[in-house]
Amino acid sequence: MDLSRLPFDIRSIKPGEFAYLTKRKLKNREGEEKGEIILWKRRGSEESEFLLHCPFCGEENSGKVVLKRRPYRVRCPSCNRSITLPKLADQAKRESS
Ligand SMILES: [Zn+2]
Repeated sequence: MDLSRLPFDIRSIKPGEFAYLTKRKLKNREGEEKGEIILWKRRGSEESEFLLHCPFCGEENSGKVVLKRRPYRVRCPSCNRSITLPKLADQAKRESS
């Protein structure tokens, strides 16, 4: 994953800047960890933004999404597959505490 594509420096994040920020590995249909996603939401923003290395097609994309209902899903802009992030909310809570 090319972290230089992030619109912020992940190593120097100001406290309170994000409602959440999570980085997680993604598995393909065979259960292999082939992808990764960084997903974040700035405080006060409706939209979440993501940088996605798709586990299915291998492409790297960034995008925006409004996440409303769990399980949260992000669609790969390259292959249009839906990627489910089942425990995102729990993990975000743990990371921020
Ligand atoms: Zn894809």
